[in-house]
Amino acid sequence: MTTTQTPTDPTEPLDVRPTPLALLLLGRESDPRSERGVDCPGDLPAPSDPDLVARARAAKARLGEKVFILGHHYQRDEVIEFADVTGDSFKLARDAAARPDAEYIVFCGVHFMAESADILTSDAQQVILPDLAAGCSMADMASAEQVAECWDVLTDAGVAGVTVPVSYMNSSADIKAFTGRHGGTICTSSNARRALEWAFEQGEKVLFLPDQHLGRNTAVREMGLSLDDCVVYNPHKPGGGLTAEQLRDAKMILWRGHCSVHGRFSLESVEDVRARIPGINVLVHPECKHEVVSAADHVGSTEHIIKMLDEAPAGSAWALGTELNLVRRLAKAHPDKQIVFLDKTVCFCSTMNRIDLPHLVWTLENLADGKSVNRIQVDADTEHFAKLALEQMLALP
Ligand code: SF4
Repeated sequence: MTTTQTPTDPTEPLDVRPTPLALLLLGRESDPRSERGVDCPGDLPAPSDPDLVARARAAKARLGEKVFILGHHYQRDEVIEFADVTGDSFKLARDAAARPDAEYIVFCGVHFMAESADILTSDAQQVILPDLAAGCSMADMASAEQVAECWDVLTDAGVAGVTVPVSYMNSSADIKAFTGRHGGTICTSSNARRALEWAFEQGEKVLFLPDQHLGRNTAVREMGLSLDDCVVYNPHKPGGGLTAEQLRDAKMILWRGHCSVHGRFSLESVEDVRARIPGINVLVHPECKHEVVSAADHVGSTEHIIKMLDEAPAGSAWALGTELNLVRRLAKAHPDKQIVFLDKTVCFCSTMNRIDLPHLVWTLENLADGKSVNRIQVDADTEHFAKLALEQMLALP
């Protein structure tokens, strides 16, 4: 039997809807089930308001010592201008904990960072995220249900008892709590090697969440494991897409997650920049793909990248494989060096960029009026176990 397709009637509405992620990237709607949170309530000032900078200054001055503003390195310049301190997610959470007098910690970053700050600060302090829809696509790639299911798969394969979870800081509080419940540790891109070395002393295998690239790059490049020692657990496939035998043979079970910003850099971008600027140093973040990291001259965390450029000789040339707001600021801070973005296309962290001046003004003005808005609060049970995993990281040798 043959079927004929009728041509689509152009007047008939098509049943094609943008995905929640596409809507979020377009700055519309939200995905309340995900780590990103929900839309901001209230009326935001117009982005074209010429008084935004003056309003932010005035509200911050009214709040005085009551507010402490944290600015992640990937934030826009207009937001960084108001930050009391800048840094990566872990440094900022610790900075917040070191300011117990500040009633409000305004975290200009993404949702999982604000959660970590809430875990590490006292109950008397409120952690505020200026836009609740500022999430992290990588953190969203590992939900609590998916990870619990994965642990069942490892249990059925007979390997859960010898597996230690190691979770990247860039994960939700739920995933950090899972890690704490199962005797694991959190890591950052600066201490991932130490975390893995510790984990391999506690067990035979590591379940690395949620960034497969950081896990693979650390295990293979820094610890001498082979690519064959690593398997990738795909939460969208039954059993993670792996056989029990593959799980038993593996040393590193990598969660199938990645950063949508650092995952964009390719081997071609490295080859291309070397052809364009002979002698250039390629410096990339370990969230980049393994082939990119292998081809680069230097690899390091955000703080390491900043330090390397501070110490680089005048006249040297650098191609940076990390977020564009940071690259632009570094280029501006080092006019004596040639600093270029590794990719040819624009590569901001779109969710991080949701925090803008209108959201910051709206937040500060509400706080100054005594109205707490967009508070991020981790429940007590999750906080307890997430803290165990964070404290284990602080105790790493
Ligand atoms: S840069 Fe990547 S890991 Fe960082 S917040 Fe954005 S999506 Fe998440």
